[in-house]
Amino acid sequence: MSSNDKLFRIVGGAQNYDWGKLGSNSTVAKFAKLNDPSLTIDESKPYAELWMGTHPSVPTIEPTSKKSLRSLISEDPSKLLGDEIIKKFNSKEELPFLFKVLSIEKVLSIQAHPDKALGAQLHKLDPKHYPDNNHKPEMAIAITDFEGFCGFKPLNEIDYLLQNIPEFRSLIGEDIVSQFHDGIILNPSDDVATNKKLLQKVFSKLMNTSDDDIIPFASGLVKRTISEPKLFGDSLCELIQRLNKQFENDIGLFCGCLMLNHCHLKSGEAMFLQAKDPHAYISGDIMECMAASDNVIRAGFTPKFKDVEVLVNNLTYSYNPVEEQKLKPDSFVRASGSGTFNLYDPPIDEFSVLQSKFDNVSGTATIKGLNGPSILIVSDGEGKIRLKGDESSTLSCSEGGIYFIAPYVDIELISEDVETPFTSYRAYCEA
Ligand SMILES: [Zn+2]
Repeated sequence: MSSNDKLFRIVGGAQNYDWGKLGSNSTVAKFAKLNDPSLTIDESKPYAELWMGTHPSVPTIEPTSKKSLRSLISEDPSKLLGDEIIKKFNSKEELPFLFKVLSIEKVLSIQAHPDKALGAQLHKLDPKHYPDNNHKPEMAIAITDFEGFCGFKPLNEIDYLLQNIPEFRSLIGEDIVSQFHDGIILNPSDDVATNKKLLQKVFSKLMNTSDDDIIPFASGLVKRTISEPKLFGDSLCELIQRLNKQFENDIGLFCGCLMLNHCHLKSGEAMFLQAKDPHAYISGDIMECMAASDNVIRAGFTPKFKDVEVLVNNLTYSYNPVEEQKLKPDSFVRASGSGTFNLYDPPIDEFSVLQSKFDNVSGTATIKGLNGPSILIVSDGEGKIRLKGDESSTLSCSEGGIYFIAPYVDIELISEDVETPFTSYRAYCEA
């Protein structure tokens, strides 16, 4: 361990899920190798996730002592978590958040997460499928071009697809299709509750169709993207054909491609996934931050358990244009000096993420102490990090470097070279 125990380097753990990007093409593999040069990258393996936090199944390690971050925290929780965080989240060893890098080659399962009340209820009734009683808010910040599904499409778009795509229309059935068409009121201020009920009806009919019964509709849908592409538009055609190669004739072609917003994020853009809103990641590289929980209700593009009844009965059925699903960053007033700062601050207690950037600028930024623990990862370029006013604490840091920062300490980020970028993301929780 370094002389200074309020700011120190840590090493995260890479995970090889089959949807990850292969070998050194994966940002996860690249960061993991830069973070821990002793690691050998297997070019035939997908590198999907890099975990940074205190989750016991993939420990984050302090490299000098070889101790896990979790055990270091448990040795001195007041210093590393702070008493306010210990009291609020009722743990002396666990961070309230888990921070990750994801490199996505193939679509992940379409899913939603419970809020706190539903999480507690599901855990009580079905602890096997819902392993804890917590909610699981998630936020994704793109570090390369990213695409995902996020929330239901506006109702007029779903109505257009029901009216014009014969496979979707016959799968849902004339009766529900015309109830939806006649009943939706396109001015959302008029009668949102009725609109949501109609949307739920369509979704419920779809999700209660067995996987075997979906197959002929799905294969017909894919053929129609080739025979009548104009019905769909270019980007939806391409998406259906691409995802069908990953999950052939899957229900996700309907509940994902035809019902959910297809959201594109540029580097630095973010989306916050509200509790009980359906979503899935499709491709790209992101920083992801989430509350420490494993509660997932799945809907499509997955071989895992689908809890259709819980899913259909509990979604919010919010429907919004894709731009409204994005989380706009705020300015950050507790930084001064050089560099620019963007704060991604979703409306939950467990985490926020601060982006800091030095683009064509050198100098020092001072960031006031935060009232809780944080983890910082350098995503691009290089610079230095130290405790304010303590030269001896200086650490050189570059792409893939990961650091733990204790609560209440002012730190400095230093960019020494105008030509070299220095970009980092810092996840934190404040009481
Ligand atoms: Zn999720």
